[in-house]
Amino acid sequence: MERPGPGEDSAEPVDVLIIGGGPAGATAAALLAGRGTQVLLLEKDRHPRFHIGESLLPRNVALFERLGVLEQVAAIGVLKPAAEFVSDEHGAAVAFPFSLARDARDRFAFQVPRAAFDQVLFANAAARGARTLQQCRAVSLRPAPPGGRALVHAVAAGAERLAFAPRFVLDASGRDTFLAGRLGLREPAARHASAAVYAHYRGAEFRTGEREGCISIHLARDGWFWMIPLPDGVMSVGFVAHPTLFKGRESSMAAFLAAQIEASPSVRARMRAAERISAVTATGNYSYAARTSWGEGYMMIGDAFAFLDPIFSSGVLFAMMAGEMGAAVAETWLADPRAGRALARRTERRLRRGMAALSWLITRINDPVLRDMFLSANNRFGMRDGLISLLAGDFERPLATRGPEFAFKAAYRMLSGLNRLGLRLHPDGQLRRAPGGLLAAGS
Ligand SMILES: Cc1cc2nc3c(=O)[nH]c(=O)nc-3n(C[C@H](O)[C@H](O)[C@H](O)COP(=O)(O)OP(=O)(O)OC[C@H]3O[C@@H](n4cnc5c(N)ncnc54)[C@H](O)[C@@H]3O)c2cc1C
Repeated sequence: MERPGPGEDSAEPVDVLIIGGGPAGATAAALLAGRGTQVLLLEKDRHPRFHIGESLLPRNVALFERLGVLEQVAAIGVLKPAAEFVSDEHGAAVAFPFSLARDARDRFAFQVPRAAFDQVLFANAAARGARTLQQCRAVSLRPAPPGGRALVHAVAAGAERLAFAPRFVLDASGRDTFLAGRLGLREPAARHASAAVYAHYRGAEFRTGEREGCISIHLARDGWFWMIPLPDGVMSVGFVAHPTLFKGRESSMAAFLAAQIEASPSVRARMRAAERISAVTATGNYSYAARTSWGEGYMMIGDAFAFLDPIFSSGVLFAMMAGEMGAAVAETWLADPRAGRALARRTERRLRRGMAALSWLITRINDPVLRDMFLSANNRFGMRDGLISLLAGDFERPLATRGPEFAFKAAYRMLSGLNRLGLRLHPDGQLRRAPGGLLAAGS
């Protein structure tokens, strides 16, 4: 347990206290402060600091506009016009250009060095009037009694102990899951397990022409890679697979990543002249959600609430969406706790629904049938364009306009049945028996 800090009586009153100055916390802080609410934002680190999660989605752009940071993000980022899927098994690549997304606002996104990006968001929160404390770690929280204030202890640089009495707390502590961990609410994803290893390189082959700037997802035998182009000729490369593959390795993480690159023909070809310019980092089995995202006087937002496998680059968007929604919950709660509880309930439902739309794809990403469908990029019933909209971050479509998504799922079920009879969908859109570059299903 943490050493007790200053007592309740000496705790400094604040309206909203936010734990964590990543995209979720900085978004919430900027919006709350901009609308006149007193906010304190605590960040245990000091910006700029490294973070993984560099590929953003078109739906982020409207959020940047609302925060007033679009120009700054554009200045530090690489324009991302599409997501590309490359398959070693199929020997093919297919691009999903955002220009085909159903919503005209979803035309492009950015890829960003997160150190600079997170600093922009954090500085924006301060510029809009949030009080920010860096190198200040929240260490304990006693939730508020109904209508009262919580008690939060923090440790600042130099080991100074601080106490705050907030009326509402937003936990935006990321994968540290400050509250979910302490309250025993964190649960690993039931149907999906993965781990990642990644590093930055110079000299990797960049896409050119129409695919310039796009993220490449390379589907390999044992998992998948991301290749994310960043400014100054830097390429972020990561490999994601089931944790058992990582546990069974006999070499260092750096050697393991190099071996995986070597084992994938499509990644190897692009990395021939590449030189690693960063340390190799690994993140363990990482998909989880808290059983509930809120309680009396607090709400968890971003990764502090839930984390999805990053294959569709959705983490920062969900974090910023949750930051925006969490700010609304906090404001409502301050004015009327009953209305705040109702909004918190609706907000959690909204976030879970958005995540469920992606989880369906994520849990099947190593399934040969789903991979066949991605690589054939078939647009019957608008399925491809529906998929592009999902890849753009359009997670909140009303039921009535989700026909393409349902058609995609129905096609998946039909193709799964045909797959059991030995038939596979080929990149040319034809159904044939497995050979011709395709491995047998399930191999
Ligand atoms: C391998 C991998 C690849 C990914 N790739 C992508 C991608 O391509 N695109 C994408 O959108 N997302 C990606 N993500 C997800 C993305 O990184 C996260 O979803 C996103 O950063 C969440 O933002 P956040 O603000 O919730 O948390 P974070 O960005 O983690 O911020 C949390 C902040 O809280 C601070 N903090 C923690 N505890 C305390 C405390 N006790 N007191 C004070 N401060 C505290 C931390 O220092 C940190 O700055 C990836 C994730 C992983 C693991």
